[in-house]
Amino acid sequence: MPELPDLDVVADALHAALAGRPVASARAVMPLAVRGTPAELEALARQRVARVARTGKFLDLQLERDRVVVNPMLTGRFQLAGRGEKAPSGVAVELSFGPRGGGPPPDAARWTTGAGWLPADGAPVVVRFRDPTQMGKVYLLPAGVERVIPGMGPGEMGPDALDPALTLDEWRARIRKHPGELKNLLRNQAFVAGIGNAYSDEILHAARLQPFRKRSTLAPEEVDELYVAMRVTLGDAVRLLRERVPPTFEKQVRDHLAVHNRGGEACPRCGSRITQVTAGGFPTGYCRSCQR
Ligand SMILES: [Zn+2]
Repeated sequence: MPELPDLDVVADALHAALAGRPVASARAVMPLAVRGTPAELEALARQRVARVARTGKFLDLQLERDRVVVNPMLTGRFQLAGRGEKAPSGVAVELSFGPRGGGPPPDAARWTTGAGWLPADGAPVVVRFRDPTQMGKVYLLPAGVERVIPGMGPGEMGPDALDPALTLDEWRARIRKHPGELKNLLRNQAFVAGIGNAYSDEILHAARLQPFRKRSTLAPEEVDELYVAMRVTLGDAVRLLRERVPPTFEKQVRDHLAVHNRGGEACPRCGSRITQVTAGGFPTGYCRSCQR
């Protein structure tokens, strides 16, 4: 499942590659993935891309008039391709973009500057949303049309995990209202947005806290350590993925993870065997020796 670090890299890359380009065509290969009408999809054509951004675990494509929001769910991925390249299987929606003048936008992320994978301005570009399990959704939001996006409604999305406004004081205040298990807490998008099954395991390992421990049992310094672990783990992952992911944005890089999906392997910190349990259908990896 794409989480904050994965989508952050994709959003930066697509913003740098697409901003200023007009939509040439929009095609729903799997119409059930689209929330919106065929006419609304068709009406995206000729609008220029203003901004591509990540909002929690959603990808947000702002055109000059309308907006498209994608929730990739478990297996949704984004491919950035030239028009000639062969489409992979499982494509749900394909957006083609025309050439632009003037190069990448001035607010493109600095790490994308001069990148070799950036398509030439004069060349057309295709972005494919691929989703083999067909759980992801593409929401069309034409200007003036109200459409509910589950997970983005009022009170459903808390501050972003890397938002500078989410200070340690704010974290302490927010976390008081959540007494339950730490892994569930981190995955609760209404508490903090962007973290899923994989990075919640990684953050808890970095904080040396067990996933099923209750927040109500944490000492004040452990609450603070969890905050620091969240920022450091996600920040490090974003920096690493900027190096590792391009140009294959459709591939999810996860081999840097310390404990998630590493049941039976050695804990990179203490060498003990990593425990893996499946709770509610989601694998949870942690170290019984160095997470308390
Ligand atoms: Zn350990």
